[in-house]
Amino acid sequence: MPPIANTPSVRVQAATEHAANPEGQYVLYWMTAYRRLESNFALQRATELAVAWNKPLIVLEGLRIGYRWASDRFHRFVLDGMLDNLQAAQELPLTYLAYVEPEKGDGSGLIETLGKQACVVITDDFPCFFHPKLYKRIVSQWKCAVELVDSNGILPIHGADRTFTVAHSYRRYMQKEIARESPIFPHQNPLRGVQLPRLKKLPESITKRWMFLSGKELQNYDLSKLDIDHSVTAAPTKGGRVEAIRLLSDFAKRKLGDYDHARNEPDQYGSSSLSAHLHFGHISAHEVFHAIVSSVSGWSFSDISKPNGKMNGFWNLGVNAEAFMDQLMTWREIGFNMCARQDNYDRYDSLPDWAKKTLKDHAKDKRPYVYTLEEFESARTHDSLWNAAQRQLVVEGRIHNYLRMLWGKKILHWTQSPQEALEVMIHLNNKYALDGRDPNSYSGIFWVLGRYDRAWGPEREIFGKIRYMTSESTRSKFSVKGYLQRYAELEDRQAWKAKAT
Ligand SMILES: Cc1cc2nc3c(=O)[nH]c(=O)nc-3n(C[C@H](O)[C@H](O)[C@H](O)COP(=O)(O)OP(=O)(O)OC[C@H]3O[C@@H](n4cnc5c(N)ncnc54)[C@H](O)[C@@H]3O)c2cc1C
Repeated sequence: MPPIANTPSVRVQAATEHAANPEGQYVLYWMTAYRRLESNFALQRATELAVAWNKPLIVLEGLRIGYRWASDRFHRFVLDGMLDNLQAAQELPLTYLAYVEPEKGDGSGLIETLGKQACVVITDDFPCFFHPKLYKRIVSQWKCAVELVDSNGILPIHGADRTFTVAHSYRRYMQKEIARESPIFPHQNPLRGVQLPRLKKLPESITKRWMFLSGKELQNYDLSKLDIDHSVTAAPTKGGRVEAIRLLSDFAKRKLGDYDHARNEPDQYGSSSLSAHLHFGHISAHEVFHAIVSSVSGWSFSDISKPNGKMNGFWNLGVNAEAFMDQLMTWREIGFNMCARQDNYDRYDSLPDWAKKTLKDHAKDKRPYVYTLEEFESARTHDSLWNAAQRQLVVEGRIHNYLRMLWGKKILHWTQSPQEALEVMIHLNNKYALDGRDPNSYSGIFWVLGRYDRAWGPEREIFGKIRYMTSESTRSKFSVKGYLQRYAELEDRQAWKAKAT
């Protein structure tokens, strides 16, 4: 397997000008995105520094309530993960603190106060949603050393010197990088065999002001008392590391062998269903990569072919694993590349010029149907397949792989303007999807409008040269009967919600 070494410097960015203070009481890892205690460069970096200074290690996993779209759904998922982490931490030489903000603003000052007595604060370098702004704001006010560590994907997000605008150029870059040098993987368990002094107790300035939750409290947490959206109910999918590892192992054993075909069939769930766990960091891309290549006995990096920029033939893993690797290594990571480099990744103006031009040329085309956000949200369109996909999103927090593309394309078709379509997609995706608010969310949503794609012919009404999709062709290409039965027969949102609980 690939080399494991100290955390590569390209993954570590100093976020303040303050020097680390080896006289501090502990090293603090503030876990915000990679919510796991294994296969995590940020935890690895924090451990390296704690060992170097022989200091206790504190891991603080927090959950705020003041972010857009905060709801029972995402809280429950993160709480499941916190419980797994709390249990895993009992075996490790660290102090794990689970903090759930009880009221808006209660968490303010917590990190700063903990940080004051730390040698250094390590945190996750997640390039999307509220994270970059939060880091910038807090970091500018802090008086201690802070490092942002990237454990997002197989290639470091700050390794590339340009933003990739089409998938094949990113694929070529990625293949060249892998062929040039095998990527360094994080230690599976960076704390294995490590001896660190234990923190005897937390400073009083902390314990007097903030409460950390026990396992029992996490398990029985009453979400109804929080000021978050309770209409977006907990999803049937369980969050956390234990479930993530189970899903990965099930996928590798039972589904990978037919992935290339089955992932597109709405009546089968042939994909991994790992996107939510990847988003919340309950599992790492490295662990997923490892499970996939391990499906081919004896595979090693020396088995790769010369970079060819193609979807198949580079990894020499067979058609199914190659197809999966393309999702994990090209489609997932190209979105991180964009978010890490462009502040406007979530704005209409970030679309390629050809896409903006063709959409503008067709801005005045008559729409066959125009729906409001409310009509979309409550799945009241004329199209039963679209409605079924929207209901799946509301009930389960996900949409089948293939139908998710159709879902987006039809929103473009049935709104007054592409700008409005963008707002509707972002809102519905990020409000309901467990894997939303991620670089992939913006890749997928903007792909609907032309990002990472090319111009297609013939030029059509509304879409212009943007790739076109229809429910009719989806119905004729794939079997959707079971999918429709499952999600279309539920008539109102109360019934969908009842199904979700
Ligand atoms: C309109 C629209 C919105 C989308 N919103 C999201 C989102 O909010 N979050 C999200 O993670 N993905 C999003 N996607 C991409 C894709 O639909 C999901 O990643 C995929 O369906 C997740 O299912 P899976 O984990 O079973 O995927 P698998 O097929 O098992 O793939 C494995 C992993 O590869 C990555 N991946 C797969 N397909 C894509 C893709 N097309 N683009 C980027 N990464 C991919 C994901 O991390 C995924 O978990 C969106 C796509 C569209 C068209």
